[in-house]
Amino acid sequence: MEYPSKLIEDAVNEVSKLPGIGKKTALRLVLHLLKRDEEQTESLAQSLTAMRTQVKYCQKCHNLSDHDLCGICASTKRDQTLICVVEDTRDVLAIENTAQYKGLYHVLGGIISPVEGIGPSDLQIDSLVNRLRGDEGEQVREIILAISPTMEGDTTAFYLQKKLKPFNLKISTIARGIPIGGDLEYADEVTLGRSILSRIAYD
Ligand SMILES: [Zn+2]
Repeated sequence: MEYPSKLIEDAVNEVSKLPGIGKKTALRLVLHLLKRDEEQTESLAQSLTAMRTQVKYCQKCHNLSDHDLCGICASTKRDQTLICVVEDTRDVLAIENTAQYKGLYHVLGGIISPVEGIGPSDLQIDSLVNRLRGDEGEQVREIILAISPTMEGDTTAFYLQKKLKPFNLKISTIARGIPIGGDLEYADEVTLGRSILSRIAYD
């Protein structure tokens, strides 16, 4: 495509690097920004930069957070004896949306995937073990594995279960009720909420 301006071309190229956005959509978005007030583009750029440079990972659960501890870990209203292990922040959001879960989380930051070269040491598994050890004063009684029931998810759950066994905790899973191969993110809230309440022992 011939662009009338190198500046527009650069902007289109950058925007089209985002997932699911082709050159045509990128051009439409760029032209849209050009039509709107300049301040709107500025505040968009500023919020993206601030998000990218300032957002942190919670020191305890590795959820995304503006502070050293995320709102969930910092809350006194959550059940501190319960940890729900998930792949990423989107799963935390999905489960929080069900309003059925009052425990804490642990965000692995992915799942074990030999194809993509992701092994256990690339994930937040050691820090989970540290939490169970109670070094920071945590007294966990139950772990819920809320990991997608895909092949990689099953491998990850199996690995975790072996790793967590010495701690003599109740280990449960919410896999049932969620379509096989489905992402937690796409499970509807009612189904997901019900799965959490009727979680089953992992064996
Ligand atoms: Zn946290």
